[in-house]
Amino acid sequence: MSFSSLGLPQSLQKALQNQKYTDAYPIQKEAIPAILKKKDVLGIAQTGSGKTASYVLPVLTNLQGGRISKNRHIKTLVLVPTRELALQVFEVFQQFSQALSEPVKCLAVHGGVSINPQMKAMQNVNVLIATPGRLLELEDSNAVHLSEIECLVLDEADKMLNMGFADEMNRIFALLPKKRQNLLFSATLSKNVDDVKQVLLKDPLIIKIEAKVDSIDLIDQIAYSIAEEKKGPFLRQLIRQNNLKQVLVFTSSAHRADAVAYKLSKNGIQATSTHSKKSQGARTENLRKFKTGKLRVLVATDLLTRGIDIEFLPYVVNYDLPRSPNDYIHRIGRTGRAESPGEAIAFVTANDEHHFRVIQKKMGKRVKLIDTKDIDIKG
Ligand code: AMP
Repeated sequence: MSFSSLGLPQSLQKALQNQKYTDAYPIQKEAIPAILKKKDVLGIAQTGSGKTASYVLPVLTNLQGGRISKNRHIKTLVLVPTRELALQVFEVFQQFSQALSEPVKCLAVHGGVSINPQMKAMQNVNVLIATPGRLLELEDSNAVHLSEIECLVLDEADKMLNMGFADEMNRIFALLPKKRQNLLFSATLSKNVDDVKQVLLKDPLIIKIEAKVDSIDLIDQIAYSIAEEKKGPFLRQLIRQNNLKQVLVFTSSAHRADAVAYKLSKNGIQATSTHSKKSQGARTENLRKFKTGKLRVLVATDLLTRGIDIEFLPYVVNYDLPRSPNDYIHRIGRTGRAESPGEAIAFVTANDEHHFRVIQKKMGKRVKLIDTKDIDIKG
């Protein structure tokens, strides 16, 4: 279905064409008309389903012709769990806002960077994309007022609740006016999300987009049974022999991410690590370099599993398997996005074998497991 019948202004339809968005994704087809009618929406959809545009486009449209926000009273608040997601959502808002006859002023705020520039930039902001902690700091300093919010978006709500933001979110909800539109997006409908849904949404349109099995089918998955101490040399061999570029490697901890990146670099393979212990500046810069193909290997913790969209990412390596099968699906979902194929490689130690069977069962797909015992690993 094309975007032309969804009620969006011509300027946005043109911008969509320029972005090569020819057909609306299922979530967009359902969410856009409902949000334009100011209905509450609960979207159960994964990253990769097109959920960001499904709210960005109608939210921007609804702000057209309205009063300009005055004195730091913002109109739309988008709450997100991570700094990276804040910047990514901001980019989508910016990209479409610039196409409008009345561009909407958008701003992303998150912790880990100085608060003063964010305070200064808040004047006349209409759409604020924020992580909960920094938003409360700004509110405490009177740099932003939430009493005129017309629309609240919770993106990756399950992640926010799992990451222990519930207290901060409750403080924020108490500052919002009662009459407003609520849009809640979550990859799963967990008990936490269900509780929030009861409180926040009035007669919502519920849109459930099944996990994109077809997008998992786009991913070539392969697993190697391997001893722990052979993982490093084997990773280097795989990268070198197959001349892999843009490889996202997941490890189980920040410490391991640093160690893996260090070893790769020491062996002449350009690599760096990213995780919550790195400064925000370094995280943003690493991701930017990686996204633009200027960094060969990015070694990350699960910080990057949810919400981050990297276009045409060809390779994901599960150097360590994640504990939760859902996280495995999210990790490999970094590849095979938007109809482009990808390859996901998993390292499975003897201890992991049972867990890997559980992951495959949950995913509904078997993955070929190759024994590396007979492979001459030179590193
Ligand atoms: P999201 O689920 O919001 O993270 O979006 C996933 C990816 O799909 C992003 O790279 C978008 O640019 C892309 N995308 C979203 N909607 C469309 C569409 N209708 N047509 C083509 N690409 C899209």
